[in-house]
Amino acid sequence: KASVLLEGDQMIANGNGDVGKVQPSHQLDKLREERKTLPIYSFRERLLQDVEKNQVLIIVGETGSGKTTQIPQYLHEAGYTRGGKKIGCTQPRRIAAMSVAARVSQEMGVKLGHEVGYSIRFEDCTSEKTLLKYMTDGMLLRELLGEPDMASYSVVMVDEAHERTLSTDVLLGLLKDIARYRPDLKLIISSATLDADKFSDFFDSAKILRIPGRRYPVDIHYMEAPQADYLDAAIVAALQIHVTQPPGDILVFLTGQEEIETAEEILKHRTRGLGTKISELIVCPIYANLPTELQAKIFEPTPEGARKVVLATNIAETSLTIDGIKYVIDPGFSKMKSYNPRSGMESLQVTPISKASSMQRAGRAGRTGHGKCFRLYTSYNYDSDLDDTTVPEVQRTNLANVVLTLKSLGIHDLVNFEFMDPPPCEALLKALELLFALGALNKVGELTKVGRRMAEFPVDPMLSKMIVASDKYKCSDEVISIAAMLSTGSSIFYRPKDKQVHADTARLRFHTGNVGDHIALLKVYNAWKEANYSTQWCYENYIQVRSMKRARDIRDQLERLLERVEIKLSSSNDLEAMKKAVTSGFFPHCARLQKNGSYRTIKHPHTAHIHPSSGTMALEHHVLPRCVLYHELVLTTKEYMRQVTEIKPEWLVEIAPHYYQLNGVVEEDYSASKKMPRGKGRTSTSKQIPNLVDYSICV
Ligand code: ADP
Ligand code: MG
Repeated sequence: KASVLLEGDQMIANGNGDVGKVQPSHQLDKLREERKTLPIYSFRERLLQDVEKNQVLIIVGETGSGKTTQIPQYLHEAGYTRGGKKIGCTQPRRIAAMSVAARVSQEMGVKLGHEVGYSIRFEDCTSEKTLLKYMTDGMLLRELLGEPDMASYSVVMVDEAHERTLSTDVLLGLLKDIARYRPDLKLIISSATLDADKFSDFFDSAKILRIPGRRYPVDIHYMEAPQADYLDAAIVAALQIHVTQPPGDILVFLTGQEEIETAEEILKHRTRGLGTKISELIVCPIYANLPTELQAKIFEPTPEGARKVVLATNIAETSLTIDGIKYVIDPGFSKMKSYNPRSGMESLQVTPISKASSMQRAGRAGRTGHGKCFRLYTSYNYDSDLDDTTVPEVQRTNLANVVLTLKSLGIHDLVNFEFMDPPPCEALLKALELLFALGALNKVGELTKVGRRMAEFPVDPMLSKMIVASDKYKCSDEVISIAAMLSTGSSIFYRPKDKQVHADTARLRFHTGNVGDHIALLKVYNAWKEANYSTQWCYENYIQVRSMKRARDIRDQLERLLERVEIKLSSSNDLEAMKKAVTSGFFPHCARLQKNGSYRTIKHPHTAHIHPSSGTMALEHHVLPRCVLYHELVLTTKEYMRQVTEIKPEWLVEIAPHYYQLNGVVEEDYSASKKMPRGKGRTSTSKQIPNLVDYSICV
């Protein structure tokens, strides 16, 4: 179970929240004093008055002013948790929810998971006692499925609302509605940037409370010429600051775990070469999948004479405040999801950030004193290439999951759902089409029994369909293991640079019989289980221990959910049955081999390649399979399919006759009807696909 270590080596709590020490009293006093120095402290009374007088309050304040950690505590102290009512606070990122909950439990001198807890997907660190609950926005959305009126909450604070994640946007729409029939429910929308007016307008001119932050000037430096390799430029900049600039920690914004790990390695290597005359440079990575016990390291005060360099993803833009940062290095990129509703293609790409983001990033340097921000792009790039703000996620993502959630909440009229910024109609249609194809919605767009079962699982609809379908193929036991292995969010196989050959050999053992990546994942899981979940086994087989532990936790949860939807746990060793269950969820993700060795997706023809990490590619003398199913597409140098399994084309017609036709070539794209404006009849062109007519009614 995850453990959280903060301030030195003190064990605060583990994932269950029932082990661990509470702060000794002198440290509590110190924390109490610290709380009083936060900018928000002088607004305590005003804030409480405003909450009392208004049902909805918008709060804007600089990052680090104390919004996330203090507001829920103030409300608790003022009696909003009386009678066991909860104060919920949502965060777009899981790591922020965990870290802030840990901090608040420290400040209150209680064990994490007791009065103060957090809930993130696949990990619930709360108990009956919990009054202050930090959670991801996605988790609150899921909670609504079980408690549509949020009766157990007295206050809901939607924090970091400016991030405009899909879940936050949906929550805002739902909460606005709930507030109408729950006059006693208080809503706080808090945001770091100046979107306040927009939020206020959305909530019928809600009151805005602005908390002026302490902000010191930040000098902004641009590059004279564009940089070809921003990672290298960032490393060089960090080292230059370290060698030439006065004390103060450095924050570098990178785009993801891999990049951060590379930078960490290079920085450590290069500082070793600098000799002993240069002071120590402590490298601290922070990204979503960083093991919990390492997360606290970024908050530890930097020892005298040393300098800390924090390598962070967007997480450090506003979600987490790290004290002591004086220098910011901003390469100007982040990883962003994008979605093409026409092809249904979703991808995560390194994209230039917005001007709003770059302002936020620069601001991190001026919290404790005069700071400097080094932008690794030119001022011309800034002016002409960066958008003003980031496009809200709702407008650039696949909506299938959200549509299923809304339908489960009984919201049928999606077009009139109050989105702050509505999603593209095409994306909404696409989501409905997919859910219909998966059997989650019927012809008129109502949730089916299958859909109801699918909605119980906190995973994307194709995965949940695969799980629900495993019932029919009598292999739910195996399929939830596969689903869990696909959901860890980090790689299963470990491939250190100096042992790649060994690692690859180890990996191929799980591919014996050319079973495909899905079954290989199952084999890994089962072998680990047989080895009594041993860590040693993982080392010997080049498997990531952490990913496996996470897979086990996820699997446990999926198993419990199976029971809830009354699917019996049934085990089989029929590989074809398992693959058919997978196909039942992933039939929209199929591709055929082309003459030139590439693949073409069947439904919305598009060229793709099997990812080099796939076992299908690594087997010796491999023959490329004729027809494959893939878990996801990733765009790097090419469009790659990841987690690939060979299937028989006949299965597609057997499993999804409504989607695929016998001649193997698939029915026409409905692009002709797509061009029609919303609401206008999609009549003649959609005749072969009768259900499309009905979609225009239910959208
Ligand atoms: P805001 O939400 O307004 O950005 P926070 O409430 O997150 O501000 O932070 C207030 C203060 O608490 C900051 O000075 C920050 O450094 C500190 N803090 C927050 N989380 C932690 C943590 N996990 N460990 C140590 N300090 C923290
Ligand atoms: Mg905050």
